[in-house]
Amino acid sequence: MKPKKPGINTLCTHEGELEDQQFQGAISPLYMSTSYAFEDVDQKRYPRYFNTPNQEALCKKIAALEHAEDALIFGSGMAAISTSIMAFLEAGDHIVLQNLIYGGTYNLIVRQFDKFGISYSFTDTLSPDDFERLIQPNTKVIYIETPSNPMLTITDIKAIADIGKRHGLISMIDNTFASPVNQNPIDFGIDVVIHSATKYMGGHSDICAGAVATTKEYRDQIHSMGIRLGGSLSDYTVWLLERSLKTMGLRVQRQNENAMILAQYLDANTYVTNVYYPGLPDHPDHDLARSQMHGFGGMMAFELDPSIDPVAFRKALKLVKSSMSLAGVESTVLSPAETSHALIPNEEREKLGITDGLIRFSVGIEEVEDLISDIEQALMQLQPETAEMVNKS
Ligand SMILES: *Cc1c(COP(=O)(O)O)cnc(C)c1O
Repeated sequence: MKPKKPGINTLCTHEGELEDQQFQGAISPLYMSTSYAFEDVDQKRYPRYFNTPNQEALCKKIAALEHAEDALIFGSGMAAISTSIMAFLEAGDHIVLQNLIYGGTYNLIVRQFDKFGISYSFTDTLSPDDFERLIQPNTKVIYIETPSNPMLTITDIKAIADIGKRHGLISMIDNTFASPVNQNPIDFGIDVVIHSATKYMGGHSDICAGAVATTKEYRDQIHSMGIRLGGSLSDYTVWLLERSLKTMGLRVQRQNENAMILAQYLDANTYVTNVYYPGLPDHPDHDLARSQMHGFGGMMAFELDPSIDPVAFRKALKLVKSSMSLAGVESTVLSPAETSHALIPNEEREKLGITDGLIRFSVGIEEVEDLISDIEQALMQLQPETAEMVNKS
């Protein structure tokens, strides 16, 4: 009989543990040493070589979670993204990216790549044909992010992986919004899976880290660039991230459930004009999301009726705080028009659906009834007449 592969929560809890051989403690010992002997040892260990005992142990867990041969951990999501992209590109090369990507990634490309002599093209839509049309003889990398921020649009992972293979490109995905619990792009043929571990992997809004899961061969290439660029993560944070990952399955499964209930509640609310959540059957990408995700995630966006002032709404919430980040155990909201997408001209922004009234909601693990009560009391305070008063004062 073929041994059954352990399930997600078993991998989260146990995979890649370091054994405490001295005291048989239950958890991985933490090795903070930056200095290791180099003679008569199997490896020359050093934190920026990504090979301390804790780094290696955590990489095993992350590789298992993403169904990958190997993994690397970085000091931030952007360190993981920049190192991975730059590992495969040099002057004269070209990269195709989807239009809707994380602002930091967009900035890296448009502010740096001209200086490096690397050219790039962004798609106009998420249609696979659009990606394929932009491929040139010097294209080396094809890059997607799904679900996207903040509209939760879905890109067809398998179609992009197939295009990558047909044209001999390295395919990469920013899998942050889904987390490895909800989406495993390597199963669809993607080469390199990247995470901002600051989000669902860390999950408690107290860790800044990044991760990459890929084949051994690509891992080695990214590793070489990583040593040169130096974006390794401190071992103490590596150890904290290992602890966080033990509950990632539970956290994200709960966030999926809460988000689904909230999306249905908001969809039926008279003060909400639109809800963007891939789990809702009327989301334009619902079927695609079903076909490639195990769960629909904890992120959603919704648009308030123009009679409700979005700033006053956010401030009227008591339990749900406003936050620049996302994916913590605590629910948070943000107005993309004021923050992440403030630099995009109004007209462009509205075309993407990012209106002034759009609220991005990162759903936490609280009791969903309490989250609904909080939204109700905020709307109560701000019913049209009241909202007008708030605006005038
Ligand atoms: C936050 C985020 C990043 C960047 O991660 P940092 O840890 O802040 O460097 C990249 N992609 C997505 C989708 C993110 O949400």
